[in-house]
Amino acid sequence: MTKHGAVVVPEDAAVGRHFSFPPPRTGGDSCKKLAGQVDLGAAMMGSWLDSMKASSPRHRLVAPRVAATGSSDADETEDDVWMEKHPSALGSFGAVAAAASGKQVVMFLDYDGTLSPIVEDPDRAVMTEEMRDAVRGVAEHFPTAIVSGRGRDKVFNFVRLEELYYAGSHGMDIKGPTADSNHHLTPSKAKSVLCQPASEFLPMIGEVHDALVAKMASIPGAKVENNKFCLSVHFRCVEEKTWGALAEQVRAVLRDYPRLLLTQGRMVLEIRPVIKWDKGRALEFLLGALGFADRDDVFPIYIGDDRTDEDAFKVLRGRGQGAGILVSKFPKDTLASFSLRDPDEVKGFLRQLVRSSNS
Ligand SMILES: [Mg+2]
Repeated sequence: MTKHGAVVVPEDAAVGRHFSFPPPRTGGDSCKKLAGQVDLGAAMMGSWLDSMKASSPRHRLVAPRVAATGSSDADETEDDVWMEKHPSALGSFGAVAAAASGKQVVMFLDYDGTLSPIVEDPDRAVMTEEMRDAVRGVAEHFPTAIVSGRGRDKVFNFVRLEELYYAGSHGMDIKGPTADSNHHLTPSKAKSVLCQPASEFLPMIGEVHDALVAKMASIPGAKVENNKFCLSVHFRCVEEKTWGALAEQVRAVLRDYPRLLLTQGRMVLEIRPVIKWDKGRALEFLLGALGFADRDDVFPIYIGDDRTDEDAFKVLRGRGQGAGILVSKFPKDTLASFSLRDPDEVKGFLRQLVRSSNS
């Protein structure tokens, strides 16, 4: 517990306060002013291939979190230690609910791997009708946002719930609900929430998209996705022996674009503008837009499965508020406080949250 009674693991609090966020703004221009330039040094260190493999395990590196038949004692021990640090958000639901009691819950949900399973073809990462119902139920009680690396329009087309906030392009494209949901903001105020800190990069992103599509034509299985303010090169369907060549081709294109940054996610390389904006900043922006920036009685819950979600977990730790929940079947380095195994468990958690709010 923290000074606010929020559920975060205290021993890692050395992460410290992430940054203090200015008062809520809702205009695109003010967003741009908030987004500085990132330090390229840290991002360019290390081997890309090693990093791609670490982000995208194809083989079981350690035992699944619930010990499988035949797994070794050493694996089980590692598993147990990890689960002690990052207990199941379902198994610990009572503790989460107690910490959130009397506070305003705000729900943040990643999409791929959180609400939908990771699939071979990213265009087919649909969510089930049951999951949609669960998210709809949560949004009836709490302000709810989808925070995704996908383009905002694309992720909206998957989720299709107009009462949600959407932060696409890793939070670089934020828009309020188009339908009234739970009256946290007046409908007109909610609809005016807008943040696009990287709009000046649009022409450059388009150019790089075309160049990458041309380069990737020679790599079987590679797929370039235009997420509007950022690009994804998916290598889920690329043979592992070709990953190094793929990374080199992508880097070759980016040599002419020093204002774009290359990062890795789960089975994906991401190209994004060199600005200090990420899912954590999107979370802070949305809390501000909702009027909760400086409130102690807010309880943000962020659920995600990717390295890019760590920026949001870090913000929660820095604020000493709420609960970060990592979706993973495997022990992973994370700043999240809790874990869930897969989208099915995410659905279970959302349903339980709704049930506890109704009781
Ligand atoms: Mg994800």
